[in-house]
Amino acid sequence: MPLQTGTVLDVQDPTIDPWVLEYHEYEPTQELLREALCTVGNGRFASRGAAPEHRAESGRHYPGTYLAGLYNRLTDETAGRQIENESMVNLPNWLFLTFRIDGGPWFSLADVDIHSYRQALEIDRGILVREVHFTDADGRETSLSQRRLVHMGRASLAVLETDLRPENWSGQVTVRSAIDGEVENRNVGRYRDLSGKHLEILDRRHPRPGVALLRVRTTQSRVEVVTGIRHRLWIDGERRELEASALMDNGLVGEDISFSLEAGSEARVEKLASIWSSRDHAISEPALSVLADLENAPDLATLTDEHARVWLTLWNRFRADTEAEPRIRQITNLHIFHLLQVASPNVLDVDAGIPARGLHGEAYRGHIFWDELFIFPLLDVRAPEIARSFLRYRHRRLPLARQLAREAGYAGAMFPWQSGSDGREETQEVHLNPQSGRWFPDLSRRQRHINIAIAYNVLRYLRITGDVDFLAEYGAEMLIEIARFWASIASYDRISDRFEIVGVMGPDEFHDRDPNWEGEGLRNNAYTNVMVAWLFKEIPLALEPLPARQREGLWERLDMSQAELAHWDEISRKLKVPFHDDGVISQFEGYEALEEFDWLDYAERYGNIERLDRILEAEDDSVSNYKASKQADVLMLFYLLSFEELVETFGRLGVTFDEEMLTRNIDYYMQRTSHGSTLSRLVHSWVLARSDRPRSIELFKQALASDVNDIQGGTTQEGIHLGAVAGTVDLLQRGYSGMEATADGVLRFKPNLDPQLGRLDFCIYYHQRWIDVSVEGEDIRLSSEITTHPPIEVECRGTTATLASGQTRVFRRTDGTEVE
Ligand code: BGC
Repeated sequence: MPLQTGTVLDVQDPTIDPWVLEYHEYEPTQELLREALCTVGNGRFASRGAAPEHRAESGRHYPGTYLAGLYNRLTDETAGRQIENESMVNLPNWLFLTFRIDGGPWFSLADVDIHSYRQALEIDRGILVREVHFTDADGRETSLSQRRLVHMGRASLAVLETDLRPENWSGQVTVRSAIDGEVENRNVGRYRDLSGKHLEILDRRHPRPGVALLRVRTTQSRVEVVTGIRHRLWIDGERRELEASALMDNGLVGEDISFSLEAGSEARVEKLASIWSSRDHAISEPALSVLADLENAPDLATLTDEHARVWLTLWNRFRADTEAEPRIRQITNLHIFHLLQVASPNVLDVDAGIPARGLHGEAYRGHIFWDELFIFPLLDVRAPEIARSFLRYRHRRLPLARQLAREAGYAGAMFPWQSGSDGREETQEVHLNPQSGRWFPDLSRRQRHINIAIAYNVLRYLRITGDVDFLAEYGAEMLIEIARFWASIASYDRISDRFEIVGVMGPDEFHDRDPNWEGEGLRNNAYTNVMVAWLFKEIPLALEPLPARQREGLWERLDMSQAELAHWDEISRKLKVPFHDDGVISQFEGYEALEEFDWLDYAERYGNIERLDRILEAEDDSVSNYKASKQADVLMLFYLLSFEELVETFGRLGVTFDEEMLTRNIDYYMQRTSHGSTLSRLVHSWVLARSDRPRSIELFKQALASDVNDIQGGTTQEGIHLGAVAGTVDLLQRGYSGMEATADGVLRFKPNLDPQLGRLDFCIYYHQRWIDVSVEGEDIRLSSEITTHPPIEVECRGTTATLASGQTRVFRRTDGTEVE
């Protein structure tokens, strides 16, 4: 059985600038992908990198603008049933801008002869540039240059600046710039037959020359959004009075701006946009805030300068610098950039979660999954206040999670597999297989392990920050209620004296049921059971720092008792972990009886076999009959828990865990995984980081290629894969430095960096101080900033030291330990 190879990242080009993502040719078939990759945003909202002159056009152009946390529900008849879906709403397109010369046709790249083309995303400053030099059908040669940004500091603002220079003609130019209100959710092919009209237009206005306003409302959630634009014109650097006629046509509200231009001179049109919604804080009414923005915003040079300076402060915290080939550095930077466009300080007060596909497209309808698990580790150590804000998204939905648990017959709180506005289960009920054209039941809601991920995220956040106030206000309640859910779903089997969890699914979506068992879901998914055992050990420890009064209050309110804690402890020692005869951990009970899959045959027949579920369904077979996984399942254990934690957790369950067991399981499951999720290669790379560095690096590069190379052949255009995006940076930072905040308050490292990556430098914020970390091979240097906080304990390969204010510690592999 072969290991799936995946796309190989071309890293050879030394001319690549690690801070610019650049394209030098216009390729219509690549536009949708580039739109996603060139999205600019500020956490509050984001706009895809679409060409301004185009409205949505199937298969060609899809301008999309999304506001964090803004959803709407629509109902359709699908596969014979009435189905309601909630989607992140595509908002009016503020970007629309085109032009024509002497009344000729409106500009389109498809109609002109292109001499040079450059699209460049300046990753360091968050600016998207497009420069085109072309000749039109009438022989007019023109240079067009545009810059756009979504302001990182002033979170309601965006700017598009357009320069036009006639090279060989003089004439009358009309620039048409508008807000396009006739937008729908149409980014995802699979959903195209479903309704996508989420907005009703309430009002279109031109309050004064140069300014246009569009007010819309979502049809069901009834959120009002006002978009406003303001225009200014310069010719050869001189501000001109606008000669503009109001445009209100065909869904567009804006202006036609006219001016005459001489050959060799240059016109600049500045379009400032402002977006406010009725959900925003500190407003009277959205249109008033929009008008105030358009009135008061400083000039473009000041706005750009401010924006770039905010980005700089973010980079100072978030950089992960290596000496790797430029392409690797470029994608690493791009990944941090895209994460920050979804998870920035602008979300601190917003009630929004982290959508699996960012604010970059409409896949999975903007829902929030367990993918957070791959994103929090980076936020925890770089911007814990942002992590805290996203954890609060979950806490606010605790009442609904309690209701979901109650309705399913369980205690505590059961968070849904997919979450949106109010925290109800958003997972669709039927799913389309594009390969067969058939709809079939979507059982993925059985992934109750989302309730492991949420608790894990809270626990890891607490270890990094020691944020007792968060624990007391929000964390403890979430942990207790999640623990209660797991305690109630676990059933006791007297004969084996073991607890069992049945009816759930693990992370591997190829196995939503066991073909040889008549019950629903799976029995004893090893990932779920071992992680739940870990949770029951960990949660009581995490609750210990609660101050007495808060603890008493909480215990009273939640009716907690010692007996309940003792019960959790018992479960943590008696959960069933299934094994094959040869000592491999079974992904679930019954896995061993499944058939081996003929990987070679299918690879030969189909080429890309990542989505075996679709291939086999189209053949009237089912992937659940085979020992074939979409993504890491058992191996997720080795990703989430350190070796020491694995030894302890398995030990309490009566299983001896050692290196041999680790290797055996990695080998076994690596050969049986198709990597049909972008999260998979990342996890496999991680678990090999210490035992097989070359293979780990190879998989790391493949994970890096996920979006820039669109390795799934068409999914990135529907949004970036934020789990893999953040996870690859975390793989550098935590995976290769072996960083772990232990339960007993030690910051532990086991550095093992491949020489291909040279030196790795990053910083972390740990217990209220910044620490600079520098890794080279197996050596590590830690430097604390000057702080009034007490020293912390650090450890490397068993040697401990304290790290005090202003101190540097160096651990070297050669002679054991050296402390400076
Ligand atoms: C993966 C899940 C993931 C989801 C959203 C699926 O393809 O199998 O693990 O949560 O995508 O990214």
